Amino acid sequence: MTNESIKQRDLDIIWHPCTQMKDHEFLPMIPIKKGYGVYLEDFDGNKYIDAISSWWVNIFGHTNPYINEKIKDQLDTLEHVIMAGFTQEPIVRLSERLVEMTPEGLDKCFYADNGSSAVEIALKMSYHYNRNIGKEKPIFLSLKNSYHGETMGALAVGDVEIYKETYGPLLLESIQTMVPKDQSIAAADEAALELEKILIERAHEISAFIVEPLIQGAGSMHMYDPHYLKRARELCDKYDIHLIADEIMVGFGRTGTMFAVEQADITPDYLCLSKALTGGYLPLSVVLTTNKIYGAFYCDYSQQKSFLDSHSYTGNALACAAANATLDIFENDNIIEENEKKSAYMLKKLDRFRSLKNVGNIRQCGMISALDLQGYDSSERIGLKVYQYALKNGVLLRPLGPVIYFMSPYTITYEEIDKMMDVAYEAIMTL
Ligand SMILES: *Cc1c(COP(=O)(O)O)cnc(C)c1O
Repeated sequence: MTNESIKQRDLDIIWHPCTQMKDHEFLPMIPIKKGYGVYLEDFDGNKYIDAISSWWVNIFGHTNPYINEKIKDQLDTLEHVIMAGFTQEPIVRLSERLVEMTPEGLDKCFYADNGSSAVEIALKMSYHYNRNIGKEKPIFLSLKNSYHGETMGALAVGDVEIYKETYGPLLLESIQTMVPKDQSIAAADEAALELEKILIERAHEISAFIVEPLIQGAGSMHMYDPHYLKRARELCDKYDIHLIADEIMVGFGRTGTMFAVEQADITPDYLCLSKALTGGYLPLSVVLTTNKIYGAFYCDYSQQKSFLDSHSYTGNALACAAANATLDIFENDNIIEENEKKSAYMLKKLDRFRSLKNVGNIRQCGMISALDLQGYDSSERIGLKVYQYALKNGVLLRPLGPVIYFMSPYTITYEEIDKMMDVAYEAIMTL
């Protein structure tokens, strides 16, 4: 088998996500044969450093021996069981650990099998909570430039131009408020002021405010200061609306702390987790919430206040085993501390880009670094050129338009960081 033969079979029958399929008339499809550490290897033997953690999910490398072993153990014990009326040990253990490691006050875990579903759950739960206590609050508030997934409810609270244009008529009503324009405290205060203006007028009809804490991922890796989250928490309390922290991308160490909200020292009413939860192995998501919210659904069956949400693969036992193995690695290997050193090293490496005239807005938060290519027309598809150059040179970068970012598994070595960033530098030099 070669890249070419598999590529042909693929293009005959598979419709890929987030892809204009016609692009594959000139862009190669890359069939991956195997993965190990930060590397992906194709059928022709080419190796690529996975600088985007395979869509932001992988943190401890591909085919990590420890996670592999734990999944294999689970595989011979129990692969899956219905989560209504039944339970299993891996999910109980995982839930105990999540409650223990997340901010004080998050005491209940509700599971699903992907990030968008976790967002849907938080939105529905917040609306339903209000309904159960006799309030009708059908509107959600979110940040401009936000991304929360691609199912209908998640799309409705997101603010990505192309989705809004295309699916707008199908989406429920939501309001967007200003996101802090940069990582300064002044920008955080300015945006908090705007938030309060909206809440003064409309809090009575808003169930919840949903945010991506510290980094808006799909929104071009836009970063802001934890001070904004502190202010948002205060304002949500003052105007009596829920705060949903969508940590689907930033959770599990991406921002430098285990969870981004820790940097603001706040507890959200809902914490949505997925992506790195299983180390990037298997689909799983969870919404953590408070006993107070749980309590508003807890009553005699006849009162019909139960929460209504279920998915066939909710809380899959293999995925929970992968998640437990992932948490083991955090506990055993001093990951957050090691990451601090790698993050500082990457920041230093970013210096080299500062002298380039076509590069601006160089930024970093924890294990994510990003920069903008400036002065290009969007029709030039400048990010695509960087993507192609990097692939030819053994690095999988996947720019968001003109924004180049580095978000590798944490297991990347210093030499591999050099290679990843040097190839990006060369790619920009050849533009
Ligand atoms: C990826 C992502 C989602 C959606 O998760 P899926 O598993 O892709 O549905 C939601 N919110 C944020 C912030 C994300 O990065």
